[in-house]
Amino acid sequence: MSRFTRRARADGGSIPDVPYETKLQDGWVEKVAALDWVPWKRDQVQLGWVASGPCPRCGHLLAIYQRRVLGALLSDDDVVKAACNCTESHSGRPEGRIQGCGQEARIPLSQWTGKR
Ligand SMILES: [Zn+2]
Ligand SMILES: [Zn+2]
Repeated sequence: MSRFTRRARADGGSIPDVPYETKLQDGWVEKVAALDWVPWKRDQVQLGWVASGPCPRCGHLLAIYQRRVLGALLSDDDVVKAACNCTESHSGRPEGRIQGCGQEARIPLSQWTGKR
């Protein structure tokens, strides 16, 4: 039995409707921790680092920002607060929340397997 229902998309295709869920999906942390860090820049100034890619659960784009003065490298002692912050709608999302499918975790940088 599938708990996903399908709904029509504007282009005629369909995407699974993934309900909002805070219980972490198996493998979510590992897949997010495999995203590469790239410099996060605005107007030629590096504000920090950003890791972005598809959310392993809902498939929408998420981005994790780490603000670091003068772009100083992250150290293994840092804990990255990773959360799905996609801008698509998910059924059951609490009022006041405007982003994400509910997945979030604090991932020590020492567990990060992506490039940095
Ligand atoms: Zn999503
Ligand atoms: Zn998501």
